[in-house]
Amino acid sequence: MSDPARKPAAFYPHRHLLGIEGLSADEITRLLDLSQSYAERPKDDHRARSLLSGRTVMNLFFENSTRTLTSFELAAKRLGADVINMAVSTSSIKKGETLLDTAMTLNAMGPDVLIVRHPESGAVSLLSQKVDGAVVNAGDGRHEHPTQALLDALTIRRRRGRIQGLIVAICGDVLHSRVARSNIHLLTKLGAKVRVIAPTTLLPSQIDKMGVEVFTDMRKGLKDADVVMMLRLQLERMQGAYVPSIREYFHFYGLDYDKLEIAKPDAIIMHPGPMNRGVEIDSELADDINRSVIREQVEMGVAVRMACLDALTRDLTGANT
Ligand code: ASP
Repeated sequence: MSDPARKPAAFYPHRHLLGIEGLSADEITRLLDLSQSYAERPKDDHRARSLLSGRTVMNLFFENSTRTLTSFELAAKRLGADVINMAVSTSSIKKGETLLDTAMTLNAMGPDVLIVRHPESGAVSLLSQKVDGAVVNAGDGRHEHPTQALLDALTIRRRRGRIQGLIVAICGDVLHSRVARSNIHLLTKLGAKVRVIAPTTLLPSQIDKMGVEVFTDMRKGLKDADVVMMLRLQLERMQGAYVPSIREYFHFYGLDYDKLEIAKPDAIIMHPGPMNRGVEIDSELADDINRSVIREQVEMGVAVRMACLDALTRDLTGANT
């Protein structure tokens, strides 16, 4: 139900943020620049506080989340919006209501932005066709998690000054990871050299068609990497055995100080969270403030989500160009 009067603003010429795949390098760069400006602002910046006043942002999460939900909530509140959090698994969906029924019910309450997470790939896009507000994909199945890729890119840019030409190694459970997919789209569009490293059981078929180099040997894949991005072993999405044992997985694919030596001496370590300590990453290394930027990723999440909410509502507010 798109409203023809609701034209997207030039800054971000899309109604929704469903994935990185449909964005141009320029659009991504503009969102990153805006995110950086939010990262630099004091938390109580009054101009930012009133930007979405009178607007309603609904968080509609069909899957558990701690950091993403909180981050969106904080971002919307810092922009002055009224925020409603719906943990759908605890409400009507349990009573047999379909995704679209839920969407239509919430739509009748007139949210300006719906932030949606769903365990099925494509569900968020389907929902976006049925509602009047802007929709942000907060993670759909194995498909995309665009704000995660944006916050990762912002963190890389702040630490390394650029993205173009960097070697980024994405390691672990690529098969089940929407974070990997969104990051591959974003980083390749911005000119990074992206590698994926995983056992063959955890690599999607045809991943090489996404413009990445594929490695099954971590010691080869990490060579000269500028950024090492570890992924969580997504046990909840696995039916059957994808890895022989957790111990063996850590031995071959877990990041520890020893394997990290193969990367560039100043390589940064990232992880989208939640982490399985001792499974994909050594616990001490994860907390090593000289190498790990995991805390900064969380911090940048709020700035990125403020920027996305700002960009998506520009045609509504008119003034915030
Ligand atoms: N938090 C990320 C996601 O929602 C990564 C993960 O769960 O492993 O996809």
